[in-house]
Amino acid sequence: MASARKTTKVIIVGGGGTLGSSTALHLIRRGYTPSNITILDTYPIPSSQSAGHDLNKIMSIRLRTKADLQLSLEALDMWKHDPLFKPFFHNVGMLDCSSEAENITELREYYQALIDANAGLDKTNFWLDSEDNILSAVPCFTKDQVKGWKGLFTLDGGWLAAAKAINAIGLFAKNQGVQFQSGDAGTFKKPLFADDEVTCRGVETIDGSRYFADKVIMAAGAWTPTLIDLKDQCVSKAWVLAHIQLTPEEAAAYKNTPVVYDGSYGFFFEPNEEGIIKVCDEFPGFTRFKTHQPYGAGEPKCISVPRSHASHPTDTYPNASEVSIRKAVARFLPGLKDRPFINRAMCWCTDTADSNLLICEHPKWKNLILATGDSGHSFKMLPNIGKHIVELMEGTLQQDLLDYWKWRPGGDALKSTRAAPAKDLADMPGWKHDARL
Ligand code: FAD
Repeated sequence: MASARKTTKVIIVGGGGTLGSSTALHLIRRGYTPSNITILDTYPIPSSQSAGHDLNKIMSIRLRTKADLQLSLEALDMWKHDPLFKPFFHNVGMLDCSSEAENITELREYYQALIDANAGLDKTNFWLDSEDNILSAVPCFTKDQVKGWKGLFTLDGGWLAAAKAINAIGLFAKNQGVQFQSGDAGTFKKPLFADDEVTCRGVETIDGSRYFADKVIMAAGAWTPTLIDLKDQCVSKAWVLAHIQLTPEEAAAYKNTPVVYDGSYGFFFEPNEEGIIKVCDEFPGFTRFKTHQPYGAGEPKCISVPRSHASHPTDTYPNASEVSIRKAVARFLPGLKDRPFINRAMCWCTDTADSNLLICEHPKWKNLILATGDSGHSFKMLPNIGKHIVELMEGTLQQDLLDYWKWRPGGDALKSTRAAPAKDLADMPGWKHDARL
């Protein structure tokens, strides 16, 4: 294996994003020759259209499956201790809270499940059963504001300086000698095959350049189902975000505030070093269905096609999102409820029916590996997901992850495991401010 690692050539499509950059990192750490690794991405790393190109993302422990727990704990360990990632973890804690009886019951059950997981989480997770407890976790709240709130506070949580962390991988990879292509020369057009028509040998990009390799990793995030026919296993959706600029005095008052999440409203983060607070609402996402023919589909099909803020910088978000983000601000930050928003945008992910990743070799095309299906929760795995993608590539991935991440047509990726199916942007006015289709 060691000598194969030295000579194996790998192309990573979408290597400027989350799963792709993590894969490049772990190839290097495993002894692959950096100059044999080629990162193709429409935008230079950190790709400005990556879902990870953001001020911050939540770090928290996911418990939905055994695999989620394993991956979250691995990631937590690396965010805390790996010198490459440590500077980007702001371990301020996280409060997952509600004032609605049904949600409080669910949160309480979740808290119990964390304790019952026997993973030492009883030392870092606490049930806050009173308003005073909530106030001691989040001192910037007022007693009136938190009437009836209860919740779960975790010391394992906080926020990740997302784009900066991907940038750090990019700098490391460049330093090591990884090859990069962006623009038309980095934008995937189609896979290239050997004479047998089933063994993938490389990739052609939209400027006509051809790159050859032993393995091709397709990690193009929300764009993957538009590039390769995934048989409707992934439906790409946008979520929305807005920011508020604080004065230095205001920013000081919110410093070290934990991430606060309420499933009925959304979530917010403490201000960054420039005094900017990010606020998101919580909803099942927006699709953008079009007629489109991904490679491998016999004919054009109806598919949700992302439209990035990077390529359409005047896009914002639907009018309905302005209302729901304002509602979240009024809930969490009532003193800022009339403040203007800056940098209002949509960000694209791709859901699978069961919210598990889709990381597997294509069932028909040998050496073409899919690494996608992030389902809106995969940034936290930036430090470790690439390790498992490389294991899949080398045939050593543990069995339960193979089972969770296998090729599995069927199911409803439009609804996925969310509260409702996504609405389509065609029915949501207010987000489009240019004439381009
Ligand atoms: P991306 O990071 O989007 O990477 C895909 C890459 O493919 C991009 O760089 C893109 O430029 C490239 N690409 C596209 N088309 C082509 C092409 N034709 N050729 C070459 N390259 C191409 N996760 C968390 O863990 N915690 C959170 O708090 C969290 N919050 C979120 C909030 C919002 C608003 C959103 C939208 C997502 C959030 N997520 C969060 C989810 C997380 O961001 C994603 O799960 C993760 O970033 C997806 O990674 P990816 O590598 O699959 O895709």
